[in-house]
Amino acid sequence: MSAGGGAPLAGGVHGPGHLRALTAVVLDTLETAARARGGPLPAGGPDEVARRTTALAAPVLPEEGIGAEAALADLVRAVAEGAADPADPACVAHLHCPPLAVAAAAELAGAALNPSMDSWDQAPAAGVIEELTTAALARLVHPEAPAPDALITSGGTESNLVALLLARERAAAGERPLRVVTGANAHHSVHRAAWMLGLPAPTVVACHDGRIDPAALDRTLAGLGGGPVLVVATAGTTDEGRIDPLPEIARIAERYGVELHVDAAYGGPLLFSERLAPRLAGLDRAVSVTLDLHKLGWQPVAAGVLAVADTALLAPLSLRADYLNADDDTEAGLPDLLGRSVRTTRRPDALKMAVTFRALGRRGLSELVEHCVRTAEEFGRAVDARPALRRRPGAIGISTVLFRPVVADEREPEAGDAVVAEVRRTLLMDGRAVLGRAVAEDGDGRRRLWLKATLLHPAAASADLLPLLDLVTEAAERAAVAAEDADSLPAAGGTGAPATERLSP
Ligand SMILES: *Cc1c(COP(=O)(O)O)cnc(C)c1O
Repeated sequence: MSAGGGAPLAGGVHGPGHLRALTAVVLDTLETAARARGGPLPAGGPDEVARRTTALAAPVLPEEGIGAEAALADLVRAVAEGAADPADPACVAHLHCPPLAVAAAAELAGAALNPSMDSWDQAPAAGVIEELTTAALARLVHPEAPAPDALITSGGTESNLVALLLARERAAAGERPLRVVTGANAHHSVHRAAWMLGLPAPTVVACHDGRIDPAALDRTLAGLGGGPVLVVATAGTTDEGRIDPLPEIARIAERYGVELHVDAAYGGPLLFSERLAPRLAGLDRAVSVTLDLHKLGWQPVAAGVLAVADTALLAPLSLRADYLNADDDTEAGLPDLLGRSVRTTRRPDALKMAVTFRALGRRGLSELVEHCVRTAEEFGRAVDARPALRRRPGAIGISTVLFRPVVADEREPEAGDAVVAEVRRTLLMDGRAVLGRAVAEDGDGRRRLWLKATLLHPAAASADLLPLLDLVTEAAERAAVAAEDADSLPAAGGTGAPATERLSP
């Protein structure tokens, strides 16, 4: 093949023809591979997956190419056969959502056209779509504000980073550095952002039942003795899906004259539902809010958002680069996009969001969110009905259910936690289920290890999830027997034991 003929482009008039042929290979391979995998993840554990993947994918940079069809067939097969696929109802470890087909199809258009969101002359219409999308999201978060705004980010981590950066810049005129005050339940990215920005390590406020204790926040703010402060609360914690008491937190922050940022990476989409939005009451009193539509929004990664109460708050991000936004170009009416991110070259991530929003409407999105919340409640009741399992006492957080096998309670605390960890690893190694793990307070106030089911599948019914409970019960009995025989399992947090034989289906 000649150099040009061997590398057809995705764009232009002829691009779609090339893409049609190649996407046919991709789609056929995805389908065959999902059947071959036959479950939520590949069986055999890391060594086996590495062996099978390497056999199909290496050498990744051969001297002579093998051609587009063959390379796609091999590597798509490798990645799909070896995937942890959130479209399988038994893949529930993380805030790792199954993307909607409509959003994935929109990604293809974005990839083919490749707009870059840092200047108008790379993204004339994509820039408008981004503006419409961020305006709609900004209005959703701050409905009463005169000039709300929002930025597209790569995810919650970047959103939290930019929120802290903007707060630091607002505080820069004063003599004292910004202090960040956050809950013990906050996402690690809040701590990392403070570290990256050269801020003092965040002051951590105690939590009760997985949520910030307002009295403890009050004492902490009283003890700081003035100076600029950003309180960071969470609406949907990563471990438990708990929502901090936002109205009380907002009231306390206002009383001390300090600002509030809410990390709603998980819980933000509750706003789509009239029935569930009241759980986020107080969110609109935050100066900035993190959202993440690659979690409860069914977007392919990346789909992060940072909403701010007033567009003027984004001023510190403005920047001149003569090749991207020269003053005379801006004066002549070319939109200036560079100040909409801390990144330069940037994907058109708003496109898939806009397509999804238009396709489903707010009502359609609301139904998907409500489905996940309802399914989690039903799943929680199913756990409660099983004598061999025990749910973490208390309310279910959004769509996250924590539970553990009762056999783990029958041992010393450390040995019990080791049984829980072993159950999770056994199911992973066997390719039967992808459950998460979380350390959380039990009814007696003690912190224990739990299995975590983060239910983000917008179509899976609770009946589709019941086999998970059988798998856990069965694996727990085995782990308990193995622990008797060997007298101990690796302490939770230690290295995994080798996979046992496959469970019967
Ligand atoms: C997932 C998550 C983040 C980080 O978001 P990324 O998209 O992974 O960068 C931040 N905060 C919370 C509460 C999260 O659950």
